[in-house]
Amino acid sequence: MKNITQKDKELIKECFSQLEKNNDYDNSPFSNKASIVRAKSGKIYPGINLALWYGACAEVIAIGNAIANGERELDCIVSSGYDKNNKPVILASCGNCRQLMARHCPNIDIIIEIDGKYKKVKVEELLPYGFEPTSR
Ligand SMILES: [Zn+2]
Repeated sequence: MKNITQKDKELIKECFSQLEKNNDYDNSPFSNKASIVRAKSGKIYPGINLALWYGACAEVIAIGNAIANGERELDCIVSSGYDKNNKPVILASCGNCRQLMARHCPNIDIIIEIDGKYKKVKVEELLPYGFEPTSR
């Protein structure tokens, strides 16, 4: 677990911006989550969820966006949604997204909130004993 940097704070701010910009869940049920990936190149790639019973999650879209734009080394990801009071919050990724990161970007830092503070963790901390051989 690592502390976040100023660059990470900017990534969180951009994630909340994407969340607000694309949230129209009451009128058009496309999205109520957002995710931002920062590649090692320094470029950032947004994703929003496409609401359906099984996804697609915002992380899947953001990671796919980065890869579709030629990125192969992903540095950091953060995801957001709303709490029960409709306040934007950082969310830890679902199990499916954790598995996807274990396969496609096992070294990525994931920003999550722990005891009221933002921290960076590795996917192996969120998904110990995952399916991928690299996580064993
Ligand atoms: Zn997910």
